[in-house]
Amino acid sequence: MHFADLGLAPAITSALDAAGYTTPTPVQAASIPAALAGHDLLVSAQTGSGKTAAFLLPSLQKLTERSTGSGQGPRILVLTPTRELAQQVEKNATEYGSQLRWLRTVCLVGGASFGYQIRAMARPVDIMVATPGRLMDHMRSGRIDFSRLEMLILDEADRMLDMGFIEDIETIVKATPDSRQTVLFSATLDGTVGKLAQKLTRDPQRIEI
Ligand code: AMP
Repeated sequence: MHFADLGLAPAITSALDAAGYTTPTPVQAASIPAALAGHDLLVSAQTGSGKTAAFLLPSLQKLTERSTGSGQGPRILVLTPTRELAQQVEKNATEYGSQLRWLRTVCLVGGASFGYQIRAMARPVDIMVATPGRLMDHMRSGRIDFSRLEMLILDEADRMLDMGFIEDIETIVKATPDSRQTVLFSATLDGTVGKLAQKLTRDPQRIEI
């Protein structure tokens, strides 16, 4: 199987060729077509499974289609538990999207300058990657407009809950449109993660590799 068989545009598959990716991993082969079909997803995937590309590639593909919303807020939001993971996700988005000249990403994490992050949001944003705490800081200052958000991705949802981010996540989700697509990745889908997933998703497809 090749990435083009999963419904990804040549501008995306050529960047994957350049990165040396020849074949989709199992979690990518299962998640990419389901995400492109518009389903909400609950995916149990470990680090190292290729989970980051599993949610970034359909996100990039969706971005190649024109936004129907107005404003300049993000079209895709990725929440991650840690600053390091957020930075890695943004780096991968830039790499997989290297042929999409118009792509604009922003990373909102603690320990970095507010001024820089605010300036990065002065122009339309395609992909926002954030840790819940820093995103909440920006939201409290009224700087975030989610009116054109199409997809919400929770990466390592179990770790975000372990770190006590449940209330922040619920506040953030409430600020996003009901029409959004929601994709949740987690090492486990039981217990509190399962309960959160039930609240946030609509008729989700479950993918367990
Ligand atoms: P992740 O599980 O997202 O942390 O990815 C683990 C590693 O696998 C990262 O270094 C990716 O760059 C790499 N990777 C992801 N998908 C593929 C693929 N289809 N082929 C080769 N390497 C990949």
